[in-house]
Amino acid sequence: MESSNQSRRQFLTKTGKAGIALATLPIITKITPASYVAVNEYQQQPLPYAYNALEPYIDALTMEIHYTKHAATYAKNLADACVAEKVDTASTNLVTVLNNISKYSPKMRNNAGGHYNHEFFWQLMKPAPSVAPAGALADAINKSFGSLADFQKAFGEAAKTRFGSGWAWLLIKKDGSLAVSSTANQDNPLMDIAEVQGTPLLGLDVWEHAYYLKYQNKRPDYINNWWNLVNWEFVQKKYAEAIANK
Ligand code: MN
Repeated sequence: MESSNQSRRQFLTKTGKAGIALATLPIITKITPASYVAVNEYQQQPLPYAYNALEPYIDALTMEIHYTKHAATYAKNLADACVAEKVDTASTNLVTVLNNISKYSPKMRNNAGGHYNHEFFWQLMKPAPSVAPAGALADAINKSFGSLADFQKAFGEAAKTRFGSGWAWLLIKKDGSLAVSSTANQDNPLMDIAEVQGTPLLGLDVWEHAYYLKYQNKRPDYINNWWNLVNWEFVQKKYAEAIANK
């Protein structure tokens, strides 16, 4: 945990000072081996933007607590569960663990899901994104739901009606069709215990820890505002990968 916070501070310091150069420089070669954290899908990765970058829709304090406390704890507990349950993280994809989650403990289920979901969630948001999807994803959404607005209505409904803590999802099923679903706790559509299974393309955290400081009981306002942050380019990339792997 300390090392990942340390790395994050170093990352922000570097990127903060070289903000404009970041887009053009091969940044990996600029980081010394000592501070370089190998991309490991079992470890928490640096947040791709500052805590306040998603304001006014998600406030800085919520982001900081969400990332440094809630999400960091899932990553730590996942590491502990992998040791206890002898998952070789060097040779086993996290998705494979999720696909077989019924064979593991509740601790693995909660924390493999919690870690995967949050890493996914950070990436699918960005400040000032495009307002709508494009290309093949846009076509698929129109075909499956009628229009982007109809899709957003169905997704919002899934998010609003998830009782207690959980997530709403847009996923691509094995047959290539799109679906909207929601899951309880930290479950997700990759899990073999999920009611609707497939590859997540978009996910919304509707745990109170994701919105309570700013929105209190007004989960629908959080959901409606969240569309202003959806990184459609990321979703398009996930869709293209899923189609290619089908
Ligand atoms: Mn969360």
